[in-house]
Amino acid sequence: MALIAKRPNGTMDVTPNEVYKWHTVENVVKETAEQFGFKEIRIPTFEDTGLFVRGVGDTTDVVQKEMYTVSSTGDKTYTLRPEGTAGTVRAVLENGILNDGLPQKLFYILSCFRHEKAQKGRLREFHQFGCEMFGSPSPLADAEVISLAYSVITRLGLKNTELNINSIGCPECRAKYREALKAYFEPHRDELCDTCKERLDKNPMRLLDCKSKEDQEIAKDAPLITEYLCDECADHFGKVKEYLGLMGIEYKINPKIVRGLDYYTRTVFEFLTTDIGSQAAVCAGGRYDGLVESLGGKPTPALGFGMGLERIILTMESQGLDFAQDGGCELYIAPMGDKAAAYAAGLIAKLRDMGVYAEYDLIGRSLKAQMKYADKIGAKFVIVLGDNEIEQGKINVKKMATGEQTAFDVDDSFPERLSDFIMASLVEELDMEGLL
Ligand code: ATP
Ligand code: MG
Repeated sequence: MALIAKRPNGTMDVTPNEVYKWHTVENVVKETAEQFGFKEIRIPTFEDTGLFVRGVGDTTDVVQKEMYTVSSTGDKTYTLRPEGTAGTVRAVLENGILNDGLPQKLFYILSCFRHEKAQKGRLREFHQFGCEMFGSPSPLADAEVISLAYSVITRLGLKNTELNINSIGCPECRAKYREALKAYFEPHRDELCDTCKERLDKNPMRLLDCKSKEDQEIAKDAPLITEYLCDECADHFGKVKEYLGLMGIEYKINPKIVRGLDYYTRTVFEFLTTDIGSQAAVCAGGRYDGLVESLGGKPTPALGFGMGLERIILTMESQGLDFAQDGGCELYIAPMGDKAAAYAAGLIAKLRDMGVYAEYDLIGRSLKAQMKYADKIGAKFVIVLGDNEIEQGKINVKKMATGEQTAFDVDDSFPERLSDFIMASLVEELDMEGLL
C-alpha cells in the first residue's frame, strides 16, 4: 500500500478509539464555562494578518516566527489564527456585542496554528479552550476568570498543576520597570542570544520569557516588576490574591511571568505542570485592558485565558486519569436472510425515532461474524432474527451481560414495548452503578 500523502508534521489525527478523551474534556469545559455564565462564540479560522500583528503584538514570537500566512488577491494576506483572543475581540466589536450589556463573558473551543518546532505537547495545529470577559476593571473579574480555569482543571482531575500569578502593572509603572530592566541587561548585551539582543531594544520584558538556559542565568537577578507597581496596581494585585484565597485557590507569585505587550495590564497567570516533560503551561492568560481600544473599539477593560487541550489530555494520560466513555450500542439486530433484514430495517427506524441507539448488519454476514461484531461494539442487547421468528410472531431479546432472554409478541405495539424495555433496563443499570 503506497499512501499518496502523510499527515503534516505537527498535526494530529484523533481516531474513533481515542475521541472519547476529547469528548470528556470538551464536555467538562463547556459545562463549566456555561455554569459561570460564559456563552460560546465561533469565529473564522483565518483573519486579516494585520489583526494578529496588532492583537498579538509584533514583538512576540508568535507574530515574528510562527504565523501561517497566505496571500490573497493584490497585497492582501490572511493568517490562520495562532490564538483566539484577537479574532474574538474583532468579532465582539464588529457585532456590537459590547452594546448588549456588560460584562460580556464568552468562551470558545478552536484550533490554532503556529509554525513551531513540533514536539510532545507542542504542535503546529493545536486546540484551545479560551474565555474572554469584557467590561470589568474589578479584581473580582480576575479572580472569576482564574477560578473558571481552576474549576476546569480540578473537575478533570488534573494533579500537580501549579497556578503562578503575577502583575505586570499598567503602562505607567511598566515604563519605569522597562528602564530598570534595560539598565540591568545592557552590560550583558553581548552574552545574550540574538533574539534577546533585539528584545533588549524593543521590549526588554520579553527577555524574562527567554527559554535559553544562558539567558535565564543572566536574568536571575534582574529587577522584579513587583517592586515597581504603582499604588493602584499594587492594590489591584492585592485584591486578586485576597479573592483567590477566599475561593480556596492556591497560587504562587512568580514575577518572571510576563506578557510583554502594551495592551496587557496587571494580572497575568499560568497553570504549569511537570508531568508532560519540562515545565509546561496547560493554561495561560491575563488582563488586557488596552487591547479593545488598540483594535479600534472604545476603551474597555478585558481579560481571558487560553488552555491547550492537547497538553491537558497528555497530562491526564500521564497521570492515568479517567475519561468518560462515549455511550455504546444499546441494541444490535442480527438478521439472517433478506426477509429478516427487510423487517429489521423497518423496526430499527422506529426504535431510533424513540431514542434507542441501535445498529444492524449491513454487509450480509454469517451469524457468527455478526455476533463477533456485536461484541466488538459492546451491544447491550441482541436480537437474532430469522424467518421463523417473523412468521411465528415471537422475538427473543438477549441481554448480553447475563445471557438472559426475554420473549416479545410481535404486534403493532412491539417497537414501543421493546424501546421501553431497553430504556428501563439501562436506567436500572445506571441506578445500580450509583450514577443516577
Ligand atoms: P509556550 O510558552 O509553551 O510556547 P505560549 O506562551 O506560546 O506557550 P499561549 O500563547 O499563552 O502559549 O497559549 C495558551 C496555551 O495554549 C498555552 O498555555 C498552551 O497550553 C497552549 N499552546 C500554545 N502553543 C501550543 C502549541 N504549539 N502546541 C500545543 N499547545 C500550545
Ligand atoms: Mg509559544
